[in-house]
Amino acid sequence: MTIFEKIIARQTPAKIIWEDDDAIAFHDVNPQAPVHVLIVPKRVVPRLTEATDSDSALLGKLLLVARDIAKKLDLSSGYRVVINSGPDAGESVPHLHVHLLGKRALAWPPG
Ligand code: 5GP
Repeated sequence: MTIFEKIIARQTPAKIIWEDDDAIAFHDVNPQAPVHVLIVPKRVVPRLTEATDSDSALLGKLLLVARDIAKKLDLSSGYRVVINSGPDAGESVPHLHVHLLGKRALAWPPG
């Protein structure tokens, strides 16, 4: 099981802020911004590279959940949505997830 599957199964604690049948959102344990939330599908897709055309609704949903959580957490001055896919991107958990970062100015290009 990935660490995210353990969070979904409530075997590992996390600060969960939203959940439905398809996905869950919780605060990152090592936040890179004052707001750093992970939005994770309950069905394991290892990474974006492994997603298929049949995952399109799920992928779209993750972005709309990010939009809704950004509103709920009042990220009115902007936010960043990130998906790390593969080693060059720094992916560390092989369970697709969307990072939602906000409440500080974020540099571009990323490191
Ligand atoms: P990645 O590097 O794969 O894009 O992102 C994985 C993220 O998961 C990292 O930001 C890391 O801090 C977070 N993370 C890893 N283990 C845990 C955990 O046990 N709990 C929570 N809440 N976040 C975790």
